[in-house]
Amino acid sequence: MIPIAKPLIGEEEKRAVVEVLESGQLAQGPKVDEFEERFAALCGVNHAIATSSGTTALMTALLAHRIGLGDEVITTPFTFIAAANSVLFTGAKPVFADIDEDSYNIDPDLIEKKVTKHTKAILPVHLYGYPCDMDRIMDIAQRHGLIVIEDACQAHGASIQGKRVGSFGTGCFSFYPSKNMTTAEGGMITTNDDEIAERARLIRNHGQTQLYHHESTGYNFRMTELQAALGLVQLEKLTEWTRKRIENAAYLTERLRNVVTPRVREGFVHVYHQYTVRVKWDRDQALHQLAEEGVGARVYYPLPVHRQPFYRQLGFSDSLPVSERISEEVLSLPVHPALTQGELDKIVSEVSRL
Ligand SMILES: *Cc1c(COP(=O)(O)O)cnc(C)c1O
Repeated sequence: MIPIAKPLIGEEEKRAVVEVLESGQLAQGPKVDEFEERFAALCGVNHAIATSSGTTALMTALLAHRIGLGDEVITTPFTFIAAANSVLFTGAKPVFADIDEDSYNIDPDLIEKKVTKHTKAILPVHLYGYPCDMDRIMDIAQRHGLIVIEDACQAHGASIQGKRVGSFGTGCFSFYPSKNMTTAEGGMITTNDDEIAERARLIRNHGQTQLYHHESTGYNFRMTELQAALGLVQLEKLTEWTRKRIENAAYLTERLRNVVTPRVREGFVHVYHQYTVRVKWDRDQALHQLAEEGVGARVYYPLPVHRQPFYRQLGFSDSLPVSERISEEVLSLPVHPALTQGELDKIVSEVSRL
């Protein structure tokens, strides 16, 4: 089976982790500092704050911006559940704006209609590694005095006109094994705002300013030295892996005729966390047939967030027709950097036969 994702762990990663184990410094320390510095440089921001996961990065970013009870955060319904759940965990309410069918990202035209006097932030998700229309989102945010928190958990290194995602608003990244780079579990917040960075560091570590001196509430959302050591090695390889993802995607797009392939706007760099197409026939049948032939296709995501049982129980009853339709048509094909030429050709031939 050609897997949909494959974490690439080499000798360098193993050596780096063993070195940390032998050093005796296992919890957050100098490796985390170094990883934060390098990741900030990748995104072109002043600060990066490492966390235990993408989800805790999102929660910490929201809390650092003082989002909580009574606030509304406008976000996309077509994504992994973590973004909306993070909003719920702060006590605030996620408000869903439907997506644009070309990009699968939140539709800027629909954001403004959802702004109320309770709206505090916009939380766009760069789905599949494709940047949201940040110029328009930042413009809306500025006009209404809203905070922007970017869920860039799938979009390490993606950019618009050379400006990296995670540098428009406050960025949140994930290093889960299936992501474009991994630390096993792990996350990162990126920001140019000194005060947000400071508050995020406190929230991540029990609100502690000096040992056993606590200035605010906080949690333990820290990253370990083992994770940071892994991340430092992976970060070195990210540029090459991204180049390969883009090359694989271009190869598929040139050859696939019977599906709707991803669209990329001028000046936008898509980093293809997923290569997602739309099929016009029975998707379950397509998935079944591809699996039989050894192509590990997957659906991200089969049920929009507002339609999840838990969200229905909470009373979310919006009709978001684009998300609802698209969630029934999308299919992601393997695009990861470890694909061989033979595997790419097999994906093309099996999809063409659907
Ligand atoms: C992976 C992911 C998250 C959560 O990251 P974890 O590290 O798994 O907690 C959040 N949002 C999106 C869009 C993701 O893909």
